[in-house]
Amino acid sequence: MSTAGAGRATPRSAGSVAAYRSLLAIDPEVPVVTLGEGGTPLLHAKRLSARVGAEVWLKVEGANPTGSFKDRGMALAVSKARARGAGVLLCASTGNTSASAAAYAAAAGLRSAVVIPEGHVARGKLAQAVVHGARVVQVRANFDAALAVVRALGERAAVTVVNSVNPDRLEGQKTAAFEVVDELGDAPDLLCIPVGNAGNITAYWRGFRQYREAGRASLVPRLLGVQAVGAAPLVGGGPVPSPETVATAIRIGDPASAGPARDAVGASGGRFVAVTDSAILAAQRELASTEGVFCEPASAASVAGLLAYPPAAGSRVVCVLTGHGLKDPDAVAGEGPLPVVAADLGAVAEAMGVELD
Ligand SMILES: *Cc1c(COP(=O)(O)O)cnc(C)c1O
Repeated sequence: MSTAGAGRATPRSAGSVAAYRSLLAIDPEVPVVTLGEGGTPLLHAKRLSARVGAEVWLKVEGANPTGSFKDRGMALAVSKARARGAGVLLCASTGNTSASAAAYAAAAGLRSAVVIPEGHVARGKLAQAVVHGARVVQVRANFDAALAVVRALGERAAVTVVNSVNPDRLEGQKTAAFEVVDELGDAPDLLCIPVGNAGNITAYWRGFRQYREAGRASLVPRLLGVQAVGAAPLVGGGPVPSPETVATAIRIGDPASAGPARDAVGASGGRFVAVTDSAILAAQRELASTEGVFCEPASAASVAGLLAYPPAAGSRVVCVLTGHGLKDPDAVAGEGPLPVVAADLGAVAEAMGVELD
């Protein structure tokens, strides 16, 4: 199975569309827009594995060019949009889609516009959209309302919507599942993944299914879809009118891909679960301080879910860490006032708690 995908034959910087082109819905003559997405680390989480009694791997999607998995789908969606002659790319976003759309539009020589919920987009993500030249519009509403406006605009104006309602996005995001199987030699027993608009969990499922059907994997994983308690429509069974969570990337009350995600989780024998914001922040800190991986709060939900619903002993688990922690520095609480002392040996040693001899 290690020869799966053309992944090994193409340089990493050619990106995930080039690496898996023959497995993706894209015409051979379409030129690819890439920033070198994909090929992200799959790290063995030693402390976490010992803690839950399983073999736990972290898929570090924060290592993508704009710091989240959104780049995989954006590369494919923008390539196809440009080939069709699109001029303006439009999306609603909790932050990472706008960062990615803005960057890939810049790389493609296209314009981009993003609609975001006022006051609920992490600072780093907003900076990305601005610096990549997107036109940024805030709405006095949550993400679900922003997406409704964007979808309506897509019908009425000459724009290409690059939210995950665009099927090219999910198609491109399958490549993460391909990479996991190529690296592990088979699919894991369990995939833990944060769920917001529910596109990514759907894409992973399609990727794993495609690999099994092609004989490149012997199994498909059970899916553990993890939501935040204050934004858990797939756990509670219906839309949440006012979703709230510190994990802004999954602060979504009415997921666009709810139907296919439910089907995927059901077919996998898995489930949706909800975790508290404090469990999310604790998992974020534990990953950073014991594994060396700093992810954003939404990403840590996957690990919080794993800790709350431990897997069968000895099973092989992949937790998807969807975005980089640097995007949302404000979410890191509790560093407290840091000590400030004079720049002399005695004072610094004392503040550090080390003895001088
Ligand atoms: C978009 C995003 C999610 C949620 O993915 P969906 O496909 O909307 O379910 C989770 N984490 C991060 C960091 C994201 O950017």
